[in-house]
Amino acid sequence: MRMIIIVKKYIFNYILKALLNSKQIGNDMAEENSLLTQAQLIKLESRRLTSPKLLRLYFVSDAFESLPENIAGLHCSLFFPKAHQDLPPLPRFTSYGTVWPNPDDKAVVRSYTIRTFNCQQLRMSIEFVLRDDMGPGLTWAKTAAIGSQLGFAGPGGELPLIPNGDFKIYVGDLSSLPGITALVSSLPADSLGVIFLYVPDESCRLDLKVPPLFRVFWAYAKHEHLNQIKVFPFPSQEKLSAYITGESSDVLAVRKILRGLLGLSKKEMFILPFWRRKKNEEEYQSLRLQEVNDLF
Ligand SMILES: Cc1cc2nc3c(=O)[nH]c(=O)nc-3n(C[C@H](O)[C@H](O)[C@H](O)COP(=O)(O)OP(=O)(O)OC[C@H]3O[C@@H](n4cnc5c(N)ncnc54)[C@H](O)[C@@H]3O)c2cc1C
Repeated sequence: MRMIIIVKKYIFNYILKALLNSKQIGNDMAEENSLLTQAQLIKLESRRLTSPKLLRLYFVSDAFESLPENIAGLHCSLFFPKAHQDLPPLPRFTSYGTVWPNPDDKAVVRSYTIRTFNCQQLRMSIEFVLRDDMGPGLTWAKTAAIGSQLGFAGPGGELPLIPNGDFKIYVGDLSSLPGITALVSSLPADSLGVIFLYVPDESCRLDLKVPPLFRVFWAYAKHEHLNQIKVFPFPSQEKLSAYITGESSDVLAVRKILRGLLGLSKKEMFILPFWRRKKNEEEYQSLRLQEVNDLF
């Protein structure tokens, strides 16, 4: 029987009730995330390309003092200022819900993954996928002046995000790459597993630091990763677990294959659609909730 690990409720609350409109999430953040329970301003220190389509931003803040070291790979909420706002208004998470200073003038809220965190230097990095289809998150990431501030809350969830199988399977796209890279780089050297990444073209391929027995597959053509998964010789004796993130329909397709092929149950998979084609985050929020509710 495969190992059964409970996927933490708060991860779903954190993301799916996302963007802080519900009362529930304020409670969850306050009760279950004892790290940085209130949104804080953080300052953009620098930015650099880590691949042609990934832009890494470094942030510094004294608020990071309360965070432990091993949070790379966990998720967070960022609060971006709207055009008329110098600084993003920050909500407060209270026992009776999330309270904005002015409910008619909120910040833009988006979810991201902590790529690196240095608790001595109080410096965090987050990687943004560069794409043609701009949104407020990406626009800020590309254009904000060094020294600009945005809001940060989190991290949500706790490590390991992926259930504790003996053989780990990671599947994702460019938006998953920061998280997968961070999670895999902290695994013990004798870890077993495989990573399937589907990215726009070969220039997006990175030299990942993975345990020696890990295999990494890159796919550039539509659905190529699904074929790679279908023919991969997954071990039959090991307990398997999977981390599946990325675009909504891709995530659902991968889940279907892993369930069909390997019989993985929901408790052996961490599944989270990060974004959806042709929908911005505001349009996708409630659909994501529905999609994941249907899965679980
Ligand atoms: C838990 C979690 C962690 C995430 N971590 C990261 C991360 O580390 N790095 C990261 O870049 N993203 C990450 N994402 C995805 C990110 O939140 C979305 O891409 C978000 O839509 C970006 O906001 P935006 O304002 O730039 O675009 P939006 O205003 O939300 O969308 C504008 C348009 O861009 C399209 N779009 C959105 N994302 C993508 C994409 N990746 N590729 C192509 N088109 C896209 C939308 O379909 C829409 O048409 C994460 C999401 C979640 C839920």
